[in-house]
Amino acid sequence: IFAAVEMAPRDPILGLNEAFNADTRAEKVNLGVGVYYDDNGKIPLLGAVRAAEKTRLEAMPPRGYQPIEGAATYNTAVQNLLLGKDSQLIANGQVVTIEALGGTGALKVGADYLKRLQPGATVYISDPSWENHRALFESAGFPVETYPYYDAATRGVNFEGMKAKLNSLPAGSIIILHACCHNPTGADLSDAQWNDVVDACRSRGLIPFLDMAYQGFADGIEADAVAVRAFSASGLQFFVSSSFSKSFSLYGERVGALSIITAAKEESARVLSQVKRVIRTNYSNPPIHGGAVVAAVLNSPELRQQWEDELAGMRDRIRDMRTSLVEQLKAAGVAQDFSFVIKQRGMFSYTGLTAAQVEQLKTDFGIYAVSTGRICLAALNTKNIGYVAKAIAAVVK
Ligand code: PMP
Repeated sequence: IFAAVEMAPRDPILGLNEAFNADTRAEKVNLGVGVYYDDNGKIPLLGAVRAAEKTRLEAMPPRGYQPIEGAATYNTAVQNLLLGKDSQLIANGQVVTIEALGGTGALKVGADYLKRLQPGATVYISDPSWENHRALFESAGFPVETYPYYDAATRGVNFEGMKAKLNSLPAGSIIILHACCHNPTGADLSDAQWNDVVDACRSRGLIPFLDMAYQGFADGIEADAVAVRAFSASGLQFFVSSSFSKSFSLYGERVGALSIITAAKEESARVLSQVKRVIRTNYSNPPIHGGAVVAAVLNSPELRQQWEDELAGMRDRIRDMRTSLVEQLKAAGVAQDFSFVIKQRGMFSYTGLTAAQVEQLKTDFGIYAVSTGRICLAALNTKNIGYVAKAIAAVVK
């Protein structure tokens, strides 16, 4: 039965990691990852997480099945974070939230549910986008197309192009939007532009699906929710996938959520019943530990404060790396203006490095990046940044 099976194409980023691991040079640096490392190059275990885990493990709770939609304490905490604790939508019962296996799992449940709801729709993702967006929605059975997004000339968003495209789409089209910290470009919409996107979705009858994988990595928990808040004030129905992989440094625990904003409470009950069918026939119900830890942190005023401080620490360190990289490139004699790196938001930067330059970084310096020139700022630290800046200077000169 397997004789004719073809080898699937390798995941480009995982392939990069394998090559990096096999590299024996001591000074090697992996800028291809999508993970936050601390200044010692380690994935942090947050103090708030450690405290919540300690309490939980000491209590030795039983390991029964969770409800299909996950724990109510967790789902409510997610809603408060996304929509604000005073949200009228939450009070009205217009928000359905299910605990999902990371942001990816949330997108997958959302995609499968949408396929039942809107089987004939086309999905539109940004050009470029996180590569898994296309794969996820195609595997759910949708055709996937793109809308204009990145403008290499300004290193910002081609908003006129994006808006024109959105305003040309047929009703019922599904639009995947990066709620903040766009991956891979680091270029986000302004508050006013988000209002224009909301207007386009309203006037064209589009189905917005916001992907919020980095809340707290640009300006802060509340500030980074601007897109979700613009949609929640609009009266439209929409989807939000969210993830705690980065903001809680809980990558492998797979903690995320899918939230669906409906028109009314009784609609929520029907929608939830359908989403539960999707989950039941996929993984039945979510694992306990990661969600319980996140809920314990978010629902305790002390731990929540500690987490917000730790998240601010991660955000500030990335910002420092942005500034420092720009300064060090200048100091290394690079004439090209790299100050756009400071304006980009979140974990990534589209550096403008060509595939050939990225290749040279790898062969000559043991510095690994994605061939599109995307680098992860959170992989830089005070020890390796000087080396990386000199290497980039050497390849761009
Ligand atoms: N969406 C985007 C835009 C992402 O960058 C990521 C993580 N790389 C995800 C979703 C998925 O997050 P998770 O690891 O929680 O599945």
